[in-house]
Amino acid sequence: MDYELIIGFETHVELKTRTKLFCGCAVEDGAPPNTHICPVCTGQPGALPVLNKRAVEHTIRAGIAMNCTINRRSRFARKNYFYPDLPKGYQISQYERPFCENGYLEIQNDEGRPYAVGIKRIHLEEDAGKLVHSAGSFEASDYSLVDYNRSSVPLLEIVTDHERNPLRSVNEARAYLEKLRQTLIYIGISDCSIEKGQFRCDVNISIRPEGALDYGNRAEIKNMASFKFIMEALEYEVKRQLKILHSGEEPSQETRLFDEQKKITISMRSKEDAPDYRYFPDPDLVEFEIDQEFVEQIRDGMPELPDQKVNRIIKTYRISKKDALILTKDKNVSDFFERCAASCDDRVRLSSWMIKDLFKLLNEAAITIEKCPVPPKDFAILINLISKGDITDQIGRTVLEIMFETGEDPESIIDKRGLRPIQDEKLLERLMKEVISENPEAVNKIKDGMKNPIDFLIGQVMKKSEGKANPKKVRELIHKAFLQ
Ligand SMILES: [Zn+2]
Repeated sequence: MDYELIIGFETHVELKTRTKLFCGCAVEDGAPPNTHICPVCTGQPGALPVLNKRAVEHTIRAGIAMNCTINRRSRFARKNYFYPDLPKGYQISQYERPFCENGYLEIQNDEGRPYAVGIKRIHLEEDAGKLVHSAGSFEASDYSLVDYNRSSVPLLEIVTDHERNPLRSVNEARAYLEKLRQTLIYIGISDCSIEKGQFRCDVNISIRPEGALDYGNRAEIKNMASFKFIMEALEYEVKRQLKILHSGEEPSQETRLFDEQKKITISMRSKEDAPDYRYFPDPDLVEFEIDQEFVEQIRDGMPELPDQKVNRIIKTYRISKKDALILTKDKNVSDFFERCAASCDDRVRLSSWMIKDLFKLLNEAAITIEKCPVPPKDFAILINLISKGDITDQIGRTVLEIMFETGEDPESIIDKRGLRPIQDEKLLERLMKEVISENPEAVNKIKDGMKNPIDFLIGQVMKKSEGKANPKKVRELIHKAFLQ
């Protein structure tokens, strides 16, 4: 029997706002514990929430980017549960009437075709505080401290639709997460830093016989941040659930935990233990009415989305789609490319040098393009020099390495280190004659009509010139020598 996989995500994203969702406390990463708190975000009796307008704008922006219906009327609800990092005893979230519903996010599916992944809803809620355990784990700790700086920081929750175009493979799941993160960064509503926990997911997965109408029982893995661990957890779950199905049993509906060391998931709680949050509309926050003009204003101010950027870059700079996709993955990379392209005509060479050579140096140094020691202006000059044949590719690579190390501009590096190519034809001819007399075997083969030794001889001349000869010129000279 063939089986069908259904993967769902509830992704929590920390929004980039100056202040918290319901009070004026600053949102500041890394601040000393409990320095950005007030009666509202620590749940003191009688304190009343006031909604942050910027957080609502960001939510609508996300809704527009993901092709959602923006609900005219929406409301906040209390999600009741107890935990020491939640001083009110409830989290303000949205239940019925979220801000955005029924959208989609286009990815490339396993067949390489566009696939509009269903987005069920996007809603706004507040984050909880943070427990800091005295030891590495809760079990090993003598005590835990609580830091409310994060309490009431605005979070966006994006929920995929398990009925309408769900994710059907681990690869699609990865493509979705990457596209979602890219889109949210592009529209400027979150930095989505995985290290800082600004992008976290609850992942659920179920398997059913192909063509079945009912859904299989799903396993949910909570609070995952690393893409690598999410993929590992999903791969493990596929195998585990298939094994159960093949034995004629049914996987149970449960919440599971991913063990990062052992790369397995472990049962945490079953359906029966699932908490009942007793959602009800928050009486402190009135129903929210969004007027059309507000939505249109946000729509008019929308920045370019990743897909729009890919299309524009292909059209404007005439580079391949493959290169355009790589260059637009990170917005800062595409900005760098466009700044270079402004003073560089050979865009195909520019993109290839960025992807192959500059990325290699950045990877080796483990730095991002924002910290790249080579400014776009100088990188464009280097590409122009190579493009005009003023320096060879090989010298270009050496120059780039020095630029990367010292931050110097390419022309002064070339002058200082005598890397200008050999223009002197007499000198090239001399080098060529030396090579010919040193390699009689290759010469005889060429005379017998073989082609390969020509490349060998060119290589030898290049070597003698320390890479400073122009290979095109050398080829011309060698051809001339054998035609005579
Ligand atoms: Zn506060």
